[in-house]
Amino acid sequence: MTQSWSGQRDQRAPLTARGGRSPVVVIGAGPYGLSVAAHLRAQGVRVRMFGEVMGSWRHAMATGMFLKSTPDATDLSAPVAGATLADYCRARGQDELTELTPIPCTTFVAYGQWFADRHAGEVEESRVTSVERGPSGFVVRVEGGEEFAAQAVVVATGLSGLAHVPGQFRALTPGGPHPDALVSHTSQHQDLARYAGQRVAVIGGGQSALESAALLHEARAIPTVLVRENRVLWGEPPELERPLARRVVSPSAALGTGWSLLAVSRAPGAVRRLPAAARMYLFRRALGPSGGWWLRERVEGIVPVRTGCHVDEADADRSGGALLRLSGREPGALSVDHVLAATGYRLDLERLPFLSAPLRREVRRTGGSAAPHLSTAFESSVPGLYFTGSLAAPCFGPVMRFVAGTAFAATRVSRHLTRGAARL
Ligand SMILES: Cc1cc2nc3c(=O)[nH]c(=O)nc-3n(C[C@H](O)[C@H](O)[C@H](O)COP(=O)(O)OP(=O)(O)OC[C@H]3O[C@@H](n4cnc5c(N)ncnc54)[C@H](O)[C@@H]3O)c2cc1C
Repeated sequence: MTQSWSGQRDQRAPLTARGGRSPVVVIGAGPYGLSVAAHLRAQGVRVRMFGEVMGSWRHAMATGMFLKSTPDATDLSAPVAGATLADYCRARGQDELTELTPIPCTTFVAYGQWFADRHAGEVEESRVTSVERGPSGFVVRVEGGEEFAAQAVVVATGLSGLAHVPGQFRALTPGGPHPDALVSHTSQHQDLARYAGQRVAVIGGGQSALESAALLHEARAIPTVLVRENRVLWGEPPELERPLARRVVSPSAALGTGWSLLAVSRAPGAVRRLPAAARMYLFRRALGPSGGWWLRERVEGIVPVRTGCHVDEADADRSGGALLRLSGREPGALSVDHVLAATGYRLDLERLPFLSAPLRREVRRTGGSAAPHLSTAFESSVPGLYFTGSLAAPCFGPVMRFVAGTAFAATRVSRHLTRGAARL
């Protein structure tokens, strides 16, 4: 008998993934998929992992971007020593990264590849096109038509497919957002230099908006950032040597400084036990939009930023550009050649096209959200179907939106799969 997500015992056979007949399938080869695979393979579990190694970091982030997280919050997780970002830098003979060194995305991609080669094992680059219930678990189909049985499936597809563009811009994008259309989403770009000489409205006030605006300006485009909030928040430069008194009052954690951030960084399991309303409050409010401290000098006084600004409507104008009608602090109209939506992501299971509709219907949602409710081991209400990364954030809190959550997630998932349904 096994322990299910609801805490009730069920009658299905325990998942004894180690030496099992069919593999555990990990969908996604980003930080979460790689970490889960590293832990499972180290336990002798047969794993098939699909996706492009660090695919989102290669294709859904513009060239020239840096990570906002600090080096010690950016380690992928393996059950052995020698797998951290610092280990990678040492192995490459590169300088030690400190909190004062923003990490280029290219370095993080190279670290992910290095980690994959040493710790995560084989990655199959094909996309998973369908997962449905099968006679002994799941039936998985991949690009090219291969179909096989899996005893468990770990979804680690990150924010892929979940990009959100607000409704006001729909009239501009009948065919959906695209870099060649009047509206695109930040996740669709690798090279913002394509807009050199063009007026671009960047929508949003978070890191993605502010960094895209800096990159657009540096590529000789003409960006204007439109921020709904009344001000832009910037991170504080880290202090390498913090006096003891300050460390006690405001301890450092993976997600920032302060006791509440320490709690949500260190104890995602405790976050999961909070009432749904409290978890959803944390999910929506913790770590709202802000810019990294090192980005400030590339934006302030350089790129026009309009705060307290709402875009009420957006229409195509006669010159082939877009006309935005604005309300708020400075009501009026703004003509641009392109709108870049840095408007985030929606965690909605319905937007994971590879999960069959009947399977999606079976997955219980959490706290009135469209994200899955998960057990202490990241298992959904469908036994054997696990979700990691951002999709787990409504249950386990904001750390799951970041690389810093990989160790917790990978340990829990692998422990559950290798010990059957032992209580965690
Ligand atoms: C602009 C931006 C900046 C960020 N900066 C930071 C930061 O500084 N620090 C931080 O900790 N976090 C940052 N994040 C959050 C970041 O997305 C996560 O921390 C991390 O990438 C999550 O890892 P993941 O493995 O869940 O997903 P991802 O890294 O998104 O990986 C998804 C994987 O799934 C694969 N995939 C998708 N669909 C399929 C399919 N159908 N079949 C097979 N494979 C599939 C992809 O190829 C890829 O391998 C940032 C996010 C964005 C958008």
